[in-house]
Amino acid sequence: MSKLAELSATYRSRLNRLFGRWWRKQSPARQDRFATIGPLLSVLMFLAAITAASWYLRNEEIERTAEALRRDTEVAQQQIRLHLIENQEQLVRIARELATRDITTADFLDQAATFQRERPAVRRIAWITAKRQVRASQELMGFAPLVATDGTSADPSLPAQGQPIDAEFTFQAARDSRQPVYSHAFSDAAGVPVFQIQVPLIDRGNFNGVLAIDYGIEALLRHHVPPEVTRRHSIAVLDSGGRTLTSTVTAMPGQRSSPPSLSYELPLAPMSNGLVLKGMGYRTSVGLIGSTLFWMVVALSVLTVWMLLGTWRHVRRRAQIQGALVQETNFRRAMENSMLTGMRAMDLEGRVTYVNPAFCAMTGFSEDDLVGGRPPFPYWPSDRIEENSRLLQQELQGRSPAGGIEVKVMRKDGSVFDARMYVSPLIDPKGQQTGWMTSMTNITEAKRIRDQLSASHERFTTVLEGLEAAVSVMSVQHNELLFCNRSYRLWFGADAQGHALLASSAGDSVFQTEDDEDVDNLSGLPTHPLTETSTQPHEVFIDSLQMWFDVRSRYVQWTDGRLAQMLIATDITARRRVEELARQQAEKASVTSRLITMGEMASSVAHELNQPLTAINNYCNGMVSRVQAGSISNDDLVAALQKTGRQAERAGQIIHRIRSFVKRSEPQRQAAQAKDIVEDAVELAGIELRRRKVNIHTYVAQRLPTLHVDPILIEQVLLNLLKNAAEAIDGARMPPTRRHIELRVTPRHTAEEGGVIEFSVTDTGPGIPEDVLSRLYEAFYSTKADGMGIGLSLCRSIIESHHGRMRAQNQYNGTHVTGCRFAFTLPVDLSQRAEAPPVPDVPDEAAAANPNAASS
Ligand code: ADP
Repeated sequence: MSKLAELSATYRSRLNRLFGRWWRKQSPARQDRFATIGPLLSVLMFLAAITAASWYLRNEEIERTAEALRRDTEVAQQQIRLHLIENQEQLVRIARELATRDITTADFLDQAATFQRERPAVRRIAWITAKRQVRASQELMGFAPLVATDGTSADPSLPAQGQPIDAEFTFQAARDSRQPVYSHAFSDAAGVPVFQIQVPLIDRGNFNGVLAIDYGIEALLRHHVPPEVTRRHSIAVLDSGGRTLTSTVTAMPGQRSSPPSLSYELPLAPMSNGLVLKGMGYRTSVGLIGSTLFWMVVALSVLTVWMLLGTWRHVRRRAQIQGALVQETNFRRAMENSMLTGMRAMDLEGRVTYVNPAFCAMTGFSEDDLVGGRPPFPYWPSDRIEENSRLLQQELQGRSPAGGIEVKVMRKDGSVFDARMYVSPLIDPKGQQTGWMTSMTNITEAKRIRDQLSASHERFTTVLEGLEAAVSVMSVQHNELLFCNRSYRLWFGADAQGHALLASSAGDSVFQTEDDEDVDNLSGLPTHPLTETSTQPHEVFIDSLQMWFDVRSRYVQWTDGRLAQMLIATDITARRRVEELARQQAEKASVTSRLITMGEMASSVAHELNQPLTAINNYCNGMVSRVQAGSISNDDLVAALQKTGRQAERAGQIIHRIRSFVKRSEPQRQAAQAKDIVEDAVELAGIELRRRKVNIHTYVAQRLPTLHVDPILIEQVLLNLLKNAAEAIDGARMPPTRRHIELRVTPRHTAEEGGVIEFSVTDTGPGIPEDVLSRLYEAFYSTKADGMGIGLSLCRSIIESHHGRMRAQNQYNGTHVTGCRFAFTLPVDLSQRAEAPPVPDVPDEAAAANPNAASS
């Protein structure tokens, strides 16, 4: 027994192995298909088996039922037949007695009654003569045959000559055959279906009539078919035409009996009268129950198939989701493996559950070194374990800052790097937190760059803060101070007002004021060119600080892309003070120089004044003597007095001009015409020129533009030049043909200076030696015994303060020096220029000359 079990176990395991091998060889899709089709097939096979079994059982049952029906019908036939044969024998015996012995009607009736009492199916026994007359008849109780008076019987059970009724046919047959004959079924006089047996009465070969017995077919069935047969099946008797004469089961009135599912027919032998015994069986409830079960199984199978298909679809959907998940997982894993950020997962107790390759590469530890480890972790620097523990606690409590934590991480080789860690919770599919995921980036390089940047920023701010100039940057659109350095804060405070003040004082404000807030001064302007131009420096005096600033502004694109104005205001108060001092000194010097000039010209002035005074004296003496002599008319006296007055006026004019020339006044620029300046200067110089017997010729071009100068100072320059020229001519004792000076005023246009007016004084003196030329403008340099040597240096500073130029050059005739030419230029007044005519490049020679020669 155990050996058999062992053997079967070996076979089983072998089969399992074989199946397992085959199963593993299949692709997952095929496995899925098999897993789906397998149950489906088994359900279908189960259904087929059930159907077959059910069909088989049903057939079996039908067979069995048919068999039972056949047997029952045979039993019924047998019973009836036996009874009829037994009866027939009895009747034959009675018939013989009737034929052979002399039996009375009463005897016969007695015998018949006995016979009938034992046989309830017999409805009537009649003794019928050969002439078809009823000798005697024993009826069933209550059964009265109708007997016609004419001797012919209307009773269908009695033979009647010439009438086509069964009784007659049977009578003839019995007479002819001399044998008992059974009739066909017919209805008797009471309408009950019956058949007849007629036994011939033969006496020594003579036919004496018949003994006719009627069998009620229904009674025959009732009394001779066993009750167990009728319980199981319905038995009916059919006539030769197939009509049911009677049945053990009668339909309820008004109801049609359902056709039987099974039937079996047998001739109701021994008669050959066409009667048939029919057994009928009906489907029993067992069959019905069987079929209900079958349909339930079918329904369950269909349900199972349907559910299997549903499950298959569900599984397929699952498989798709699973495929997508696998793809997603692979994608994430590939991403995770390729990225440079270290990832570390921890459970809620701080045990490392996962590290990615980047984390291992960063720290130098392998995955085995790290996973499963508890704090302190091997990558914590030994001197920072406490700090790291604290950070870990913070992390586990979920209090890590969103911006990440900066930590130091030690590699396996002991080197340390800076890292930034970001922490986020790990959530499982049920929504519960299972741990923490930490990402780590190496920020050593970023930190180094940041440190360098902050150092350079510090240097930059140190420089800016250390500047003696105020640096400020203000947003153009929002009037917001974007940057200011220490000097700015010191002078203007930390608000934007100082910037606005400087900008507006420098006449360069593009900022919005309070009341035109909705007007953008730069609206629509491209800001790009603005940032590339820097405005002219302005010198600005800030009243509240009592300080001077050199303000330079520039538009810059601020770090956030906004347009901003940068101002650099340098404190130039000290320089301005020195300049002011210098200016005052220069002014004093110019006044002094004018006094000196007058001092030098004192003898000339005295000589000049001497003339009118002498003339006045002469006129007065002449008039006194002529009045005393009484030789003067009133008219002559008036004429003489008028001449005296004119001379006095002239003297007064000379004094007035000298006074106004030397009068100390603040340098005052004003619109002035070159012609007026030249006239005044020539007038004053005329005194000296006349004394030195030098001619002057002046030429002033017409329609010259207006100058914006201090006329007294320009006059002083011209006077100085004319005086120097006269002194040079006089000092060289030039012959009268060469005692000549030319003063020209002409407009010029040079590439260097633009439009200017040039004043030139050309003399016919000895010219300037080379060594003197180089020192010409040196203060206190003079070649003259009584010269002060400050004239030309002062002249140049006056001209330069008017933004003009001064130059001196010798005049040549071949190599021979014929004199020298001093010239200076003055820029024209630009504000008046629009009104003034255009300045021609070439002097207008056709312009009227203004000769003003003077001689002593
Ligand atoms: P000063 O006239 O008091 O000497 P200036 O500064 O006016 O001082 O002149 C400086 C020198 O330039 C003179 O001493 C003279 O030598 C020279 N100089 C000036 N003008 C002329 C001139 N027209 N011709 C020759 N030399 C001149």
